[in-house]
Amino acid sequence: RSKRRGRGQITVYSQEIAQEMMRATQLEQALRHAIISDAVDVHFQPIVRLDDGSVVGFEALARWNDKDLGFVSPAVFVPLAEERGFIDALSETLLRKAAEAALSWPRDLFLSFNLSSAQLMDPTTTESILSTLARVGLDPHRLEFEITETAVMTSADTAERIITDLRKAGARISLDDFGTGQSSLGRLRDFTFDKVKIDRAFVSRITSDRASGHIVRAIIAMCDGLELEVVAEGIEQPEEAEMLRSLGCAMGQGYYHGRPADTASTLRYLSTHHRDFMTPERD
Ligand code: C2E
Ligand code: MG
Ligand code: MG
Ligand code: MG
Repeated sequence: RSKRRGRGQITVYSQEIAQEMMRATQLEQALRHAIISDAVDVHFQPIVRLDDGSVVGFEALARWNDKDLGFVSPAVFVPLAEERGFIDALSETLLRKAAEAALSWPRDLFLSFNLSSAQLMDPTTTESILSTLARVGLDPHRLEFEITETAVMTSADTAERIITDLRKAGARISLDDFGTGQSSLGRLRDFTFDKVKIDRAFVSRITSDRASGHIVRAIIAMCDGLELEVVAEGIEQPEEAEMLRSLGCAMGQGYYHGRPADTASTLRYLSTHHRDFMTPERD
């Protein structure tokens, strides 16, 4: 009896794997089609100064709302595109759309764009990024690229080359989700960054958990010493914004200051949040 149940479990298990593989392949096909038919979109979330709430830039966030599958999170489809080898096509489309939108923003605002770990292993990434920006006509000085500690550590030499070349072209590099990746602070010294984004995991607990408060305080002190800019991610409550500001965190991002929004809504946001917006200069 137990033998039969055992075999049954194996059957169920392998069926689950097969279903999972089929689902991934369906998703892959739908995503490839969405890229070709221009159905993958990009939204923008404001990054603000915590002292006066003024906007300094926007992070581009990929959005895909499929007519059959519904909303699919970038946390699902970005890794899928990486795994199946078409992250470069996806990222190229997203950067083009994001850069085109940023052309209409005031010139002092930056565009922050996420790079995936697969892109940091690919030596052609820099050239592809710079040629997209040139085609759109957006100055690389307007760009920041967000990378994670884990991605940098996985392919250190290629990643270092890409970081160096993008900074030479005038872009800045921020370390995303700081505090959650697998890196040693010592290794991080080998790379040149401009900015650190403190992960939401610490920010969301900052007013309730003393340890998180101390960790955030330490990250801010380290960044001050290393002359890195700091952004706190995932601010949802005014108390969190106030506490971060009092700890000396210059910038913040989160639902409290603004949710990710499409191109048109972002322009409307700017019309009420940016003094120069009525006379935007173009590159
Ligand atoms: P991320 O780069 O760390 O982006 C921040 C995520 O936190 C976004 O999720 C954003 O919508 C969400 N968020 C912002 N403020 C708040 C808040 O106050 N509360 C909560 N609960 N969440 C907040 P999203 O858009 O689902 O993106 C998830 C991840 O997918 C991103 O994490 C990034 O790693 C990846 N991703 C998104 N767009 C792109 C892209 O264009 N290229 C690449 N390579 N990765 C992307
Ligand atoms: Mg990011
Ligand atoms: Mg992040
Ligand atoms: Mg994240």
